[in-house]
Amino acid sequence: MPHRKIPSSSGVQSPPTPFLHARISYSSSTNVTSSVPNLQLESGWRILPVFTLYGVLTTELRWKTAQFAIFYYFFTGLGITAGYHRLWAHRSYNASPPLEYALAMMGSGAVQGSIKWWTRGHRAHHRYTDTDLDPYGAHRGLFWSHIGWMLMETRKSPGHTDMSDLSKNRVVRWQLRWHLWLIIGMGFVLPTVIPGWGWGDWRGGYVYAAAVRLLFVHHSTFCVNSLAHYLGETPFDDKNTPRDHLITALVTIGEGYHNFHHQFPMDYRNAIKWYQYDPTKWFIWGCQQVGLASHLKTFPDNEVKKGQLTMQLKRLRRAQDDLSWPAENNDLPVVTWESYRKEAEKRPLISIAGFIHDVADFLDEHPGGHAILLRNVGKDATASFFGGVYTHSNAAHNLLAMMRVGVLLGGQPHGSEEYLIPPAQKLRVVRYNEPGYLSVSSAYSSSDETIP
Ligand SMILES: [Zn+2]
Ligand SMILES: [Zn+2]
Repeated sequence: MPHRKIPSSSGVQSPPTPFLHARISYSSSTNVTSSVPNLQLESGWRILPVFTLYGVLTTELRWKTAQFAIFYYFFTGLGITAGYHRLWAHRSYNASPPLEYALAMMGSGAVQGSIKWWTRGHRAHHRYTDTDLDPYGAHRGLFWSHIGWMLMETRKSPGHTDMSDLSKNRVVRWQLRWHLWLIIGMGFVLPTVIPGWGWGDWRGGYVYAAAVRLLFVHHSTFCVNSLAHYLGETPFDDKNTPRDHLITALVTIGEGYHNFHHQFPMDYRNAIKWYQYDPTKWFIWGCQQVGLASHLKTFPDNEVKKGQLTMQLKRLRRAQDDLSWPAENNDLPVVTWESYRKEAEKRPLISIAGFIHDVADFLDEHPGGHAILLRNVGKDATASFFGGVYTHSNAAHNLLAMMRVGVLLGGQPHGSEEYLIPPAQKLRVVRYNEPGYLSVSSAYSSSDETIP
């Protein structure tokens, strides 16, 4: 990979780089990275999967080591999801010092850079979603958002975000100071030593609980940036790419309800329904139960439901637009009673509730027979249609409205107001800038009122 030129002035953010690089590139005093370790560590990043594959092909997998590797995957993964992500990047709850230190160590074991580096990128991802200031913007494709952003050359820095809260955080500074040793200890030594001392499987521990587990944890996190912006539904907002899907949740320790998360990022939950898979939420809730976490933030349910309703209305609007509707009143000619009677001598016109209907194509279709229709041609049949002769169904009323060809001048019979609008149009989805949308006229009231 070509050498990257990083401006040397302080305050310039480093470009998105592999976690292995990032963990070493931040010093506690500046954000500027050195591009020398960049070259070496990016190479290291690329050979990690090859090395892991070699290890797997040449090392026996023991049952105890496999169980431990899975446990350690969740242990270090929660350091990212409950720690890096929901605690530090989004401040969705308060953690007691023991929990905070534990999460910093667990997250270090996932080898995804320091809390500070990770959070900066993630906050930019939320603030500039799907733009070039989003370090792993999904608008550049699935591969880019998954891993390409770390492997490919880019001169773009993540967009600016406020990091002042973390600069003062004792645990974040502690982790940054000891980061390299924490990575070595939590990422490689501990998962090797436990199977080694525990059941004599040093090599298996290193290959499966350290290297293979690391590969899985990395791709689990990468899937939050890629799969969670690609696969699934948008039940809360469809402005950007984030989506909700169970499969993403399963591979990311519960971060798969990403459409919800981008709408309500400070909510400690990703999944709001009890049956949805979000072990990170359960972990945080469990920590609260034993006094390790507090002030778990949840977005008001009323506002969450508004998001859902908006998306439901959008779907209904699309369905509404796919149907044919009666002609608008303004598009219909307004005729006098006399003109109507005269015209009805030439073709079968019937007046009902102030509208004139041409029933020519319906004469043979009328379930009550065509004779009754012909008897009403040139007359007002409002009472007959709405119960005088037969109480027609909603469907009949909807169909009748499709036959409108004119409006009778002053011809709406008294008491027929409720019949003006066919049942299918009594509830409609109307955009704010369309005729029929009620504006808040009281905003222009001249009287001085008291704010409640
Ligand atoms: Zn996202
Ligand atoms: Zn987030």
